[in-house]
Amino acid sequence: MKIEILKQAVMDSRDGITISDNGIDDNPLIFVNPAFERMTGYSFEEITNVNCRYLQKDDREQPELEIVSSAVKNGEYCLVTLRNYRKDGTMFWNELSISPIHDENGVVTNFLGIQKDVTPRMLILQQLRDEHQSLEEMKAHFEQLSIKDGLTGIYNRRFFDTQFEVQCRIACRTSDSLTLAMIDVDHFKLFNDVYGHQVGDEVLRRVADSLNKSFQRGSDFAARYGGEEFVVLFSGMTIEQSARHVETLCQLVRDLRIPQCASKTGYLTISVGFSVHVFSPLHPCNDLLARADRALYIAKERGRDQHFNL
Ligand code: GH3
Ligand code: MG
Ligand code: MG
Repeated sequence: MKIEILKQAVMDSRDGITISDNGIDDNPLIFVNPAFERMTGYSFEEITNVNCRYLQKDDREQPELEIVSSAVKNGEYCLVTLRNYRKDGTMFWNELSISPIHDENGVVTNFLGIQKDVTPRMLILQQLRDEHQSLEEMKAHFEQLSIKDGLTGIYNRRFFDTQFEVQCRIACRTSDSLTLAMIDVDHFKLFNDVYGHQVGDEVLRRVADSLNKSFQRGSDFAARYGGEEFVVLFSGMTIEQSARHVETLCQLVRDLRIPQCASKTGYLTISVGFSVHVFSPLHPCNDLLARADRALYIAKERGRDQHFNL
């Protein structure tokens, strides 16, 4: 092949081609082709005999620059994408490969640089990354929506149902006790009638907050079971310990001192039915819910504002 063709190929290349001199301090450019001049806005005269790094301007915090300098130091090939700046100050993404050129003794005399403006591709990539991130955020948001109750922010009934099964299985394996407490706000229909539905909603939020405050262990699980009914699951407690725990909750709600004309005390109260069970593979959990429900009914019958165990 004639040397002229080689020369013309370099001059006509649509990609920027540069050659630096490794024998001179700081590896200055000794050749740039017209495509490089077009891409950067610098002329051959302006940029030969200086190191290529002026293309980064002050934007030096780029991890890929480390790759370039180590490749130059070790006389190796590398391929990176850098933020570079044209003479007029505008940024472009430069996909740069550098290849060492050796003399007959194997000494690296020069580096050949092939430089491409890949800005459109990088912008699409960035857009895809942004879209992916907002999709992930949306997914997390919907996951939260599907397990959380919209009014109170605690878990919803659907999530409780799945967790109940999981907790039962864990308790069966560990032979640990599991307590299920059903909580119901007393005379809440009347409360709504007298104080209004919106105030009622706020009360449900405050009761849910009290639940969160009294059941704070990692294994405690509180959910809104239905309208003004809540449910709590906790493990590793005897009947006496569970009763104390549940009483703390009743007291917390009394201490909210929410006026309630239908109540004997004049303040809003709750009733709680709970059941405790030690599981083994022979004792399935399915009667725990029914027992807690019956216990709640009895607590109501006995005058409300109290707990009962079955
Ligand atoms: P009891 O002491 O026997 O539990 O009486 P109660 O009035 O609380 O029981 P009932 O089941 O008759 O009424 C429950 C009321 O809870 C009916 C409904 O107005 C109210 N409720 C249910 N869900 C909501 C809600 O999301 N917001 C509000 N504000 N009220 C609700
Ligand atoms: Mg109810
Ligand atoms: Mg009620």
